[in-house]
Amino acid sequence: MRIESVIPIFIDRYLFVEITTDTGIVGLGESGAWAFQEGTAATIERFAEYLVGKDPLKIEHHWQYLYRWTHFRGSVVMGAISAIDIALWDIAGKHFEAPVHALLGGSVRDRARVYYHVFGETTDELCEGIAAAREDGYTAVGHLTPFLDAPREDAYFETHARKIDDAAKAVARYRDVAGPDVDLCIEIHRRLAPFEAVQLGLAIQDSTPLFLEDPVLPDNFDEMAYVASKINIPIATGERFTSLWEFQMLLARGGAQLVRPDVCIVGGITGARKVAALAEASHIGVVPHNPLSPVSTAACLQIAATAPNFVLQEFPNDSWGTAGDMRPDPDKLVSGSATHDGEGFVTISNEPGIGVALRADAAERYPYRKREILTRLHVDGSVVDQ
Ligand SMILES: [Mg+2]
Repeated sequence: MRIESVIPIFIDRYLFVEITTDTGIVGLGESGAWAFQEGTAATIERFAEYLVGKDPLKIEHHWQYLYRWTHFRGSVVMGAISAIDIALWDIAGKHFEAPVHALLGGSVRDRARVYYHVFGETTDELCEGIAAAREDGYTAVGHLTPFLDAPREDAYFETHARKIDDAAKAVARYRDVAGPDVDLCIEIHRRLAPFEAVQLGLAIQDSTPLFLEDPVLPDNFDEMAYVASKINIPIATGERFTSLWEFQMLLARGGAQLVRPDVCIVGGITGARKVAALAEASHIGVVPHNPLSPVSTAACLQIAATAPNFVLQEFPNDSWGTAGDMRPDPDKLVSGSATHDGEGFVTISNEPGIGVALRADAAERYPYRKREILTRLHVDGSVVDQ
């Protein structure tokens, strides 16, 4: 079997790759380098020069070759390698007529616990979202910020006291609405300095969040470890990491109790399963990052199926988070999309490969939408993280 073509496909805000073989098998993958889709697609086309004519089943070898043939790394390169890797695993599964998880040693679970995205511009809206998710049977909610997602056009200012106190009151309200049967995954989106993160962590620990996600910018592993050492809530981080080696440096410092590898950016299924194994050696749990399409979800579920230390799977809802900005309908985008079972879980597919395929008319139905370059500013004119 040989690779005949490697084609990047832009749909809505997603970037996919389809790899076609001379036996007619088509593998599907997705890149997580969102906001840099054009650069990633160009890299995929560059890698196609190497891949066409090769045996698609030599997945690890191709991963190593594309990663190590030259000097440079980063999200665009790793987004391309990840999309290609997922597509090659999909081809392997279809070739051997087995789900990818069967090729990885077999599934250790039949379904994966998920957390549902809750969005809102006010604490009341977020509380309504938690109540609705609970009503629908979810046992965990996430993307749940105590700081609210004000429009990025709005200049930012808060005193330290208001920032920390209001956030602590918001989390207490979330817990009141959720009750003890719904876990809270508190998402900070890297907004805080280390000293602020420690104060917030101490202020909300009585609400028993399952984790505090990205309290500070993840660029400095020592600072994440400092926050982890001072608070009594598990830290979850890693969605921006593009390599196994970054996770090793984080865990060596005690910087997280839960890791969040993104299958579409950390090197595909090949990269993410190595991160899961690395974490397993330290009794660290895995919560795969998954803000994108049902293709990403299907790839994540291969990790959920096979990692003994899997904890929870991010499972996006039907909106992009802004009122009225809806994602493509999963069933019109792909066949085989994972669905919530009404009990807080999704069933792991046993279809060959990753179990999903693009609909023939998906690109026509959902034209590419480029992300605007826009971030929030402080009232003093400087850049803030949100
Ligand atoms: Mg996150």
